Amino acid sequence: MIRLARVTLREIRLPLREPFETSAGVVEQRRILLLQLADTDGSETWSECVAEALPTYSPDTVETCWLALSRWIVPLLIGRSMSAPRDAHAILEANVRGHRMARAAVEMGVWALAATKSGLSLASLLAVESETASASGAEPRPFVETGIALGMQPDPDMLAERSLAARAEGYRRIKMKIAPGKDLQYVRAARKAVGKSFTLTVDANGSYSLDDRKHVKALEAMDKLGLSMIEQPLAHDDLVHHADLQRLLETPICLDESISGDASTEEMLALGSARIVNLKPGRVGGFQQALAIHDRCANAGVPVWCGGMLESGIGRAYNVALASLPNFTEPGDLSPSARYWQRDIITQPWTMDKNGRVKVPLDRTGIGVDVDAALIDDLTLRSVEFRA
Ligand code: MG
Repeated sequence: MIRLARVTLREIRLPLREPFETSAGVVEQRRILLLQLADTDGSETWSECVAEALPTYSPDTVETCWLALSRWIVPLLIGRSMSAPRDAHAILEANVRGHRMARAAVEMGVWALAATKSGLSLASLLAVESETASASGAEPRPFVETGIALGMQPDPDMLAERSLAARAEGYRRIKMKIAPGKDLQYVRAARKAVGKSFTLTVDANGSYSLDDRKHVKALEAMDKLGLSMIEQPLAHDDLVHHADLQRLLETPICLDESISGDASTEEMLALGSARIVNLKPGRVGGFQQALAIHDRCANAGVPVWCGGMLESGIGRAYNVALASLPNFTEPGDLSPSARYWQRDIITQPWTMDKNGRVKVPLDRTGIGVDVDAALIDDLTLRSVEFRA
């Protein structure tokens, strides 16, 4: 039984080590909403909302999530008895449309609390609750492989240099942000730098259109560059043209923004819009949906991997747990803390070994990280507490 006695919502501003640029703009300081959840039995955990400041990746933002969490989502769950963590999704699904990132922040916290209360690591609880993992008797992986996501660089040479450095650090895959006009030269430079066999992927964040001849030509040329996938080339709400494009390309398309839940995953598979899914639990409303997508894709022979949303060490813990499931067969964007943060908000930062692997804290209950509460207090801009 899970029953939330107290939820504290706060906003922090966490300085990035270096600005991160995508086709949507540049971020220098990450605004992050954090939640602290306490059960009536005294168990506690922290969770993170992955929404960004601007609605460029998702309609959810820091401001809309603050509103949705404080006005509707936390009041729906607080003080309510839940026999299993899946109940949180059912309650939210029946009462709140959209606001998936806000819902996920609490829903995933409820899963972490459930794991803590049963003395399990979050990864072990997810493996038990995944239909395909439990049917095959699969244990969570003790290590997850990580790739790096490189933001757009000022020129191809700089991208080549950054790619070499990433390979030397041990990353298993390099993903480059691209946009029309900042694509082929960049990818070719990276390919030349790291060699033929190294895993390279690109992420367009929906910036190409089949209506533009030049875009189509660029995508066809990229098809010849030995990429292991092309992520979200077309618009976030366009499964039909992704299916047209996938028929044209040999390189697998991977969908990110287009996959808002299990239903859109089913549509993607029916239409043939992509062959890989970037599964971010925050984007799909939390772990109940993430497990459903993982299992549906596993049954369809479609691999998934866990993308990043510039999470702090708290959000990273949730992603690492999820990425330990068996159908996460591609490296995730699970970079160590030092890649993004001057100082992470957990006491033992996430690290990566020379082989690009991050250890899953299977020996710890719940999320498996210790939160630096004093640092979080220093970084807090606003907070509000809810009690049952
Ligand atoms: Mg993406």
